[in-house]
Amino acid sequence: MLAVMDINRREFIALPGAVMAESLLAEETAVPWHQKVRRVGQVNMTERDVVDMKVEEWADYWASAKVDAVLVSVTGIVAFYPSKVPFHKPGQYLGDRDFFGECFTAAKKRGIRVVARMSPDLNWEEAVHAHPEWFQKDAQGNPQRHTEDHRLYRTCMFTTYFTEHMPAIMREINARYDVDGHYTNGWPPLGSLPVCYCDQCKRLAPPGSPEYWEQFNERVVYLWKLYDGIAKEKRADSLFYANLGGGARCTANLKQLAEVCHWFNCDNQGRGGDDTPIWGCTLQGRVCQATMKGRTSTNVTGMWSTGAVRWRNAAKSPAEATMWFDETVASGMVIWYTFIGAETGMGEDRRWQAPGREYFNWLARHDRHFVNQRTIANLGVVMGQRTHLFYRPPGNATAQQYLDALYCALLEGRFLFDFVHEDDLGAENLKKYSALLLPNIALLSDEQCRQLQAYVDSGGSLLATFETSLYDERNRRRADFGLADVFGIQKAGEIQGTLGNAFYARIEKQHEIVSGFANTNWLPGAEYRVPVKPVEDAVLTVVPGFVAYPPELSYPPTPHTSEPAVVLREKGRSRLVYFPGDVERTMWRSGHTDLSRLIRNSVRWVLRGETPVSIEGRGAIEAFAWETEPGFAVHILNYTNPNMHRGWIREYYPIGPQKVSLKLPPGRKVTRVELLRAEMGIPFRQREGAIEFTIPKVVDYEVAAIY
Ligand SMILES: [Zn+2]
Repeated sequence: MLAVMDINRREFIALPGAVMAESLLAEETAVPWHQKVRRVGQVNMTERDVVDMKVEEWADYWASAKVDAVLVSVTGIVAFYPSKVPFHKPGQYLGDRDFFGECFTAAKKRGIRVVARMSPDLNWEEAVHAHPEWFQKDAQGNPQRHTEDHRLYRTCMFTTYFTEHMPAIMREINARYDVDGHYTNGWPPLGSLPVCYCDQCKRLAPPGSPEYWEQFNERVVYLWKLYDGIAKEKRADSLFYANLGGGARCTANLKQLAEVCHWFNCDNQGRGGDDTPIWGCTLQGRVCQATMKGRTSTNVTGMWSTGAVRWRNAAKSPAEATMWFDETVASGMVIWYTFIGAETGMGEDRRWQAPGREYFNWLARHDRHFVNQRTIANLGVVMGQRTHLFYRPPGNATAQQYLDALYCALLEGRFLFDFVHEDDLGAENLKKYSALLLPNIALLSDEQCRQLQAYVDSGGSLLATFETSLYDERNRRRADFGLADVFGIQKAGEIQGTLGNAFYARIEKQHEIVSGFANTNWLPGAEYRVPVKPVEDAVLTVVPGFVAYPPELSYPPTPHTSEPAVVLREKGRSRLVYFPGDVERTMWRSGHTDLSRLIRNSVRWVLRGETPVSIEGRGAIEAFAWETEPGFAVHILNYTNPNMHRGWIREYYPIGPQKVSLKLPPGRKVTRVELLRAEMGIPFRQREGAIEFTIPKVVDYEVAAIY
């Protein structure tokens, strides 16, 4: 049986007797409900909904969308039920109603699971007077107000608000309702680490430091376990989980958290019209797969107007929201669909309802092909959470740019790849990958460098750029690269920036990584580089930058150096590439196609051209391949769109035939290839060890189910 299910079953069998006896009756029920969830719905409730929401209509909608679970607000900011917990203030329209209870009953009547949604992040002024110790303080010791609604104050996660007040609410819910789970919005904090000077936090390392992060992570794991334990006091198959997200920059250490987390919810609701690439959702899916290894990960699609300018109560373009759905399921996550406020959501702007219902009904017809066992990919991209949180790159760069840039080049090259967490570089996790890519993973510990060395010694290949391994895990700069021996490189000076022209890379000899470059002796280099000492047989050497203006002086004073612009090595099966320049980010900033080609050529070289899946055809796509319960699935997302890099998508531009070849395990017979979006079977050709077929057309998304 599949590995993920085995883990769940083992854990489940460790649960108390009554539940275990029941589970042994039917093998299928041995997997807890939360590991089988396929669709989740949420009208994010406002306190006004007590007056405006028609509870039966709300429940009917979610039943028509075939959701497995809904979120119903208990909250913590305003109570949606008659709470007796002090400072759990009832919403101003609640009166003597039990609004949570009414929603709970309506959902349960329709066979829908109910998760109690809480917000532990904010409370009111009266609580500040009674319990000043609960709240975040600024450097002067004043409680911190919420930036949008000044009547609210921010609670501190290191205080008894989190160890006593929140547990009291959770236990009250357990006592009153048979809920299926507890969930917190607003904690752990998203985006940035807390900065607090309360009495508890004053004992911690300075806010924002790597040492603080370690204490923060300990606290997150402690509270997560505490809350999960409280959920399980009620029912063994209940759980606690929380809002996470933030892609590779999540505040909590995801490797540590994954040890205790059974449901990863990504508060990654959509992009705005600002300059953000379309793959924000699939990137999140890759982060979840790297850390959760197939346990439930949901991604919230907000059908409201997300982005820099927001309309929380107006619907967005359905084509954009649908692409976010597509990305969610293609990357192995489960859709959690949301709109805010019944008054507006069920009343004023109802445009959110149809897209979700239609998509969910389509999904429900094909659920089994979205139950994944493992990804099919031989390429790993190391995600560096510490680099995202603590590294300060030169210029106005952000750590996200290196990752987005490499991501873009990998999509252009139609590579299939996984993310690999920096704290998960052990041999067992890396054995499926022929090569690992390190897009300026500046922070790596000595131990992580040793693990990468061991990976190379066992035949794995590496490609790294720029300041990779120049800092340790505490963001302390090393005198030389932590991976100096692995790549055979030595730092020869401090970072060189750009004056007018960025530097050039002179082609010294022919090699696979410079294939396709004709009629030129040089290529664009990068905006920044770390000078490294000369190596033998350099393929590319640095031509230092010079002025772009005036043109009279725009020529290289030093046309030839021995400083390498790339260092290539082969050791046994292992192939190694190190770019001293920030080539991927420079490609991202400049759009230069030569740099994209250079990166793609280099990735192909480290992979020795081997790939388990190939997809040929025109268009900008992102692809995933999964081993599924029934067989295999190849997912193709069509990003060929003027709004690929700047939302929102207005309409789709279908692409033509995509020729797919997938390697099969020895002896594996295929009887059917079915396109799930087009809902039709297609012809295929099976030859020894592989299957080939052509997908005639992809509108927004297509899934070829192979079984
Ligand atoms: Zn504090």
